[in-house]
Amino acid sequence: MFNRESVTAAEVKAKAKELGADLVGISPMSRFEGAPKQHDARYIFPGAKSMIVLAFRIPRGSLRGIEEGTLFSNYPSMGYAALNQVYGPMVLWNLTRWLEDKGYETVPMLNANGGESVNTVTGKFRKGWSRPVREGNPYPDVLVHFRLAAYMAGLGEIGWSKVFLTPEFGPRQRFVILLTDAELEPDPIFEGKICDRCKLCATHCSNHAISKDETVKVTIAGHEIEWGKLDEMACEKGIQGGCNMKRNPFDGDYPRMYGYGRAVEGAYGCMRACMIHLEERDRLANKFHNKFRTRKAWDDIDHSKPNEFSQDIVADYESRGMVEDFNVYERYQEEDNYGTAKKDPNPKKYNPMID
Ligand code: SF4
Repeated sequence: MFNRESVTAAEVKAKAKELGADLVGISPMSRFEGAPKQHDARYIFPGAKSMIVLAFRIPRGSLRGIEEGTLFSNYPSMGYAALNQVYGPMVLWNLTRWLEDKGYETVPMLNANGGESVNTVTGKFRKGWSRPVREGNPYPDVLVHFRLAAYMAGLGEIGWSKVFLTPEFGPRQRFVILLTDAELEPDPIFEGKICDRCKLCATHCSNHAISKDETVKVTIAGHEIEWGKLDEMACEKGIQGGCNMKRNPFDGDYPRMYGYGRAVEGAYGCMRACMIHLEERDRLANKFHNKFRTRKAWDDIDHSKPNEFSQDIVADYESRGMVEDFNVYERYQEEDNYGTAKKDPNPKKYNPMID
């Protein structure tokens, strides 16, 4: 029988931070007691004793370009998809290697979806999607809620917006999970209060996805938690520009970042309004010398009006013969980003209010 090296929670946390995690929390697997079968991580690794949750900050500066209205690729990539698909998995791999070298089997779970038998946007069960492989099993793939996992691991709370809030970064973090058979000292459930129910997240959500009145309640490890009811489909559309694309200055769809990130609306309510509010109230440990919002936010974009605001820039390029005539609808027909359709010989004028 192989004798495993002993490992403590403090050592795991120190290693995770050395490898690049900002926050680390540990939950015993028993905190899944009472969870719906389709969301219970104990079915993924029945021998697991602990769930380690790592948080990676969303850089405040990754929201700067959208706040100023000048660089929209940064938050969808550096603040979103690249954290979930590049940086998080790298740390996950290396912490898993470290634990496995000590003899602990560890399931490294990144926040990437695909095979779940529950639709990750609507939360609906996909009947006919998959089959349980043995009597009593849930349907593959089991869907573990990363925010609820972070709650179990004591990292913070779920705000009214349904976005996870930590005392360090407020709404600015993303998570990965490790299920391991190492028995580690757990962190207590977070008992503080970050969200003050100001509901600025709901007021400023660009697609009215967060209810101001209706709530959802769940009980985890004996704690009842509650958040504002979220219209997931409105959220899904909202993050790409809000109602009528009012927070998307591009006359068409924005290219995907690392496969899926298109959050050009810059989480106007649930991330930016919330962060500004919590910073103003001095509720966050990660402090900055400068205020995030220094002037009135830019006005809603009206895509029904002609695209002719910065004539000085166009004139400069025209004077040097450096202007391409651009029809966004044709681009859809040509580029892989928008499918593989052949170029339409009679392209219609793209209208973001209709198409
Ligand atoms: S904006 Fe206010 S109500 Fe919404 S999550 Fe943040 S603190 Fe809570």
